[in-house]
Amino acid sequence: MTGAADISRTCSRCSRVTTARGGRVPKFCAICGQRLPETAAVKYADRPPGFAPPAATASLILGLCAFIPMVGIFFAIGAVWLGTLANDQINASHGHLGGRGMAAVGTGLGLCAGMLWLAVCAGCRLF
Ligand SMILES: [Zn+2]
Repeated sequence: MTGAADISRTCSRCSRVTTARGGRVPKFCAICGQRLPETAAVKYADRPPGFAPPAATASLILGLCAFIPMVGIFFAIGAVWLGTLANDQINASHGHLGGRGMAAVGTGLGLCAGMLWLAVCAGCRLF
């Protein structure tokens, strides 16, 4: 889902559709000068395709840190939260952002570590 049609914006005042020319996306309407709405496609148009949002990278790192004893549970919560956040950003970008796998792995690691530490805590209370 890339191309000129993907990075076009409709003016809220005169309803004229402004499309990108030469890869550059205009910020204002050519007809009435109204500031054009910022869409996800426009927001990420200057990023290389498949660019991973920082939240996805952070989620993966936190997911790995989540297996550290004692403090891991906090990293696990962060990994799941950031992984979910990154996934939302990726969905909202309409194919401009990558890193879906990274966000999924980060969330998965966070969930696994979270359950592991909850099981460890439950085990400590039992014995
Ligand atoms: Zn206009």
